[in-house]
Amino acid sequence: MEISSEEIKSLLEHYDNIMLTAHVNPDGDAIGSLVALREWLALLGKKVIIAIDDTIEDKFLFLQGVDQIVRPETVVTDDSWLTVILDATAAERTGSAVQCIKGKVLNIDHHISNEHFADYEYIRADFAATGEILTDLFQRWDILITSSMANALYLAIATDCGFFKFSNTTGHTLRMAADLLDAGAKPNHISEQLEERSLVKLRAISEVLKHIELFANNRISGITFDTELLKFTGEHTGGYIDYARSVKGSEVAFTIKYIKDKESRVSLRSKSVDVNSIAAVFGGGGHIRAAGCTINMNLLDAKKHLVKEILKAL
Ligand code: 5GP
Ligand code: MN
Ligand code: MN
Repeated sequence: MEISSEEIKSLLEHYDNIMLTAHVNPDGDAIGSLVALREWLALLGKKVIIAIDDTIEDKFLFLQGVDQIVRPETVVTDDSWLTVILDATAAERTGSAVQCIKGKVLNIDHHISNEHFADYEYIRADFAATGEILTDLFQRWDILITSSMANALYLAIATDCGFFKFSNTTGHTLRMAADLLDAGAKPNHISEQLEERSLVKLRAISEVLKHIELFANNRISGITFDTELLKFTGEHTGGYIDYARSVKGSEVAFTIKYIKDKESRVSLRSKSVDVNSIAAVFGGGGHIRAAGCTINMNLLDAKKHLVKEILKAL
């Protein structure tokens, strides 16, 4: 059921015990949104748990409050708890956290592919980030955004719109970001932390660059993370798609990663076609210009099918 911003506030105020969660492989938007919402709920005196079925990428560990994130196995809830699912289109996208959900569920999300699964939902596909929704809600509720909440929300917004470069950036996105600066967010500090890399990681980039492949007259660019390449990069391959995306002429960029036999993980970015629809062919989703899916085939077969679908869309 769709609810209004005021109804969300009443709902959150009503519950004493609240579990927050978000999608697996949490990105800056998921993490920043979780941490900011937790801080406000904790200030209200709520018992709040953030459960995520994944490890947190090192680059996000600087953010105040990230140490509050726990694994779902350690969480005990009952049906007196409210679960808030942030930045995810379906309960299953939270991985094993889905098993901790006992009571009602509130979903706050901005994906066009949202599956409208929750008891209560607030979906804003016109917003660039879940962090943008939360900033807007906090302002409507007239609550004080602390400097640590501002930092977390700024990180959430900035990472989901490519630091205000992607086409999902609107006047509203920038206004929210500007208000967060006034509330104490430090963009320089956040960028420095996110851009800083170890020499090992920097060398991994040079290896990844050698693996960029081009198709269809450079209109498609892709990187395949097979077990050999994963030895250089480790399991977190999130940022590398931007290198494929930056190849001159590329309209659709993809990465495809080995997970296990007959399971390959795909990320898609686009400057023209709707990649949400391409991801949907394989049961995934996301946004028009950024989407993802899991293909239940081995790496090379999955890539062949993926490229075929992208070609159809071009
Ligand atoms: P990424 O490539 O960064 O993993 O994901 C791009 C966007 O698509 C994100 O907004 C992410 O939440 C969404 N997305 C990625 N994988 C899936 C998936 O398997 N299912 C759905 N519904 N959305 C996905
Ligand atoms: Mn996300
Ligand atoms: Mn998001």
